[in-house]
Amino acid sequence: MKTYKIACIPGDGIGQEVVPAGQTVLAALAAAGSGFKFDFENFGWGGDWFRAHGEMMPAAGLDALRDKDAILFGSAGDPHIPDHITLWGLRLKICQGFDQYANVRPTRILPGIDAPLKRCQPADLDWVIVRENSEGEYSGVGGRVHQGQPIEAATDLSMMTRAGVERIMRYAFRLAQSRPRKLLTVVTKSNAQRHAMVMWDEIALQISKEFPDVQWDKELVDAATARMVNRPASLDTLVATNLHADILSDLAAALAGSLGIAPTANIDPERRYPSMFEPIHGSAFDIMGKGLANPVGTFWSCVMLLEHLGELDAARLLMQVIEQVTADPALHTRDLGGSASTQQVTQAVCERIAAAPAGRH
Ligand code: ATP
Repeated sequence: MKTYKIACIPGDGIGQEVVPAGQTVLAALAAAGSGFKFDFENFGWGGDWFRAHGEMMPAAGLDALRDKDAILFGSAGDPHIPDHITLWGLRLKICQGFDQYANVRPTRILPGIDAPLKRCQPADLDWVIVRENSEGEYSGVGGRVHQGQPIEAATDLSMMTRAGVERIMRYAFRLAQSRPRKLLTVVTKSNAQRHAMVMWDEIALQISKEFPDVQWDKELVDAATARMVNRPASLDTLVATNLHADILSDLAAALAGSLGIAPTANIDPERRYPSMFEPIHGSAFDIMGKGLANPVGTFWSCVMLLEHLGELDAARLLMQVIEQVTADPALHTRDLGGSASTQQVTQAVCERIAAAPAGRH
């Protein structure tokens, strides 16, 4: 029987509640006769690790993850540590160290979820946002001079490479091609940013020729926000730069009804390194330790993890079960207007997995 080695990094805040919930659900799938099992290893990196060791994860931490089949991540963020330290010291260190250059964020309005777009049907909103995850505005290139002086200056350079843009465009076109509508929107800002974004557009056109069956268009990022709200059904797969997609995907999560539901995957498409799966929400210290955290974003991330491992039947089963659970208001956590606890939702998912007819997984 195939054993998958999974690294679990709960991180901070509610990450410490939702990642164990995700492990429980993955273990339930394995126990339900899916034909595989998991070997989990937990890593206690994050804010507490920083207080004890002065760093968010050990310097050689990547080596401990390198031979894993996948990473399940919770969140990094601590009210007492600056955000740029928690982000760069853990999550980005893994994303960049393992060249997980494609950040993939599916968005749908799941059954039973009250989403804010009143003029559209839930079926109108079915998107996947592909975010360039290795360079661009978050390349980390820049610096500060004359700190604290009146002449202080600071730069953050947006670094786009031809290789970096080609690979994310190719990934996005391929993903669009795999979806029923074969429709890709390339988000840009080449009217105002006349160097890197013009190259971005040129490369989109070049790569589009490799995918003649994919219909594609270009949209300025500002117009894309309005289109997401006003004409959601006109979009399917989107590709955008690191910064643009960061913003668009938070909008997408809000339009789908809750931050607690949305998943994301940081993928190394070449599979040289393990890919990392996580809910998009942060550490949410305000609700930490109270059993209020919605674990659905983590469960959906587990669906993506299973898809990445090639366990498509198990992925399909888990997604079906998640939709059954969101359809039941008695199983909504507080962010969805309900009163169910993290544990109750987790248990309901596990029970439905165990009860699924044999042969469905
Ligand atoms: P960070 O600083 O780590 O990004 P944050 O607390 O500033 O985290 P988020 O965690 O992204 O921000 O979420 C904002 C708010 O949304 C939280 O304070 C919390 O109330 C709510 N929230 C986020 N995720 C969940 C969840 N999974 N379940 C329930 N509520 C959530």
